[in-house]
Amino acid sequence: MKFRQLFKNFIVLVFSFALFSAAAVAADSVKTTQRSFVKLAEGIYSIRHKDAPDTFPQGNTTVIIGDREVLVVDSCYLPSSAREDIAQIKEWTNKPVRYLVNTHWHYDHTMGNGVYWEAFPFLTIIAHSETAKQSANYNPGWFERFPRRADAMRKILTDGKDNNGKVLSDGEKKEYEDAIKGLEPVQAEFKTLVDRTPNFTFDSELTINLGNREVQIKHLGRGNTKGDAVVYLPKEKILIAGDLIVHPVPYLFGGYPSDFIKTLNNLKQLDFQTIVPGHGEILRGQAGKDYIDLLTGFTSAVITEVGKQINLIGNGQRNLEPVRQAVQKNLDVSAWRQKFAGNDKDNQDFFDTTYAGLITAAHAEVWGQ
Ligand SMILES: [Zn+2]
Repeated sequence: MKFRQLFKNFIVLVFSFALFSAAAVAADSVKTTQRSFVKLAEGIYSIRHKDAPDTFPQGNTTVIIGDREVLVVDSCYLPSSAREDIAQIKEWTNKPVRYLVNTHWHYDHTMGNGVYWEAFPFLTIIAHSETAKQSANYNPGWFERFPRRADAMRKILTDGKDNNGKVLSDGEKKEYEDAIKGLEPVQAEFKTLVDRTPNFTFDSELTINLGNREVQIKHLGRGNTKGDAVVYLPKEKILIAGDLIVHPVPYLFGGYPSDFIKTLNNLKQLDFQTIVPGHGEILRGQAGKDYIDLLTGFTSAVITEVGKQINLIGNGQRNLEPVRQAVQKNLDVSAWRQKFAGNDKDNQDFFDTTYAGLITAAHAEVWGQ
């Protein structure tokens, strides 16, 4: 799930507008090179996808099978991966996929929607009303905007730093080069894509019974996006968190850092044993709860330091870079870096990227208040 360079660039473009063990961390990587799945309970599976050829990460897909019908959470990015998932689902069950939930609007969780729509004629695509709105605004035209993305990536490569001022490591430069090379096959896939945005929305909570299996879909507040949805199975104590939780290194660029903390605290009130993150490895038992604490602790420390530096340096968008530099100089994040990224170079690079993005998001939020 390494935040592949295209994805970094995409998030930067979009949002410029607008105590678990180190061993556990090291076991997971921000890069996913192989497709795999995990059986979470009888009739419940989670699929992890390998990164796309353009290095874009693909969100995890969860399949929940009831006595009568099937609900899928997130349709991933590449149509070919969604097709592979559907073939796999048909091996697991002969019941139809009746519901597809989009946890949020980002492409790496929604671009497979059209493939499900074609495969299952009675499909309902469910999302929070804000997610449905954002999908309708951003998802069409994805294919046409591809050339602009390549240009933006080339510019970052030439400048040697991303739009958050993060200087590219050699590994990241190589990744940008790989991402540019991988655009062509991805573009070819999207040529025939029929885009489908959610056609059924909710605002706070929705409960569906698939036949002897209750599924709750909840909006617990803003975090990664305006319309983040989580899917909760009360009997099985499974929580499917979308990108509110990404492992081993979170996606904290963009979004709403202060609300993120509140939303995670709401999330923590649910009685769960298993967390399926938006990307990365399944978290079980106490490890999931500890990881939430790690996320809130880190986010909160960065918001506090950003506020402090804004008071010292001055308000306004023009002070973003001086504030960023002062935060990075004064806040010691080495312990968090170690806890999230371990000793893995890709994870560490990605931690630095997400940290720079979090400062940008916190700055936008704090100085505007
Ligand atoms: Zn994602």
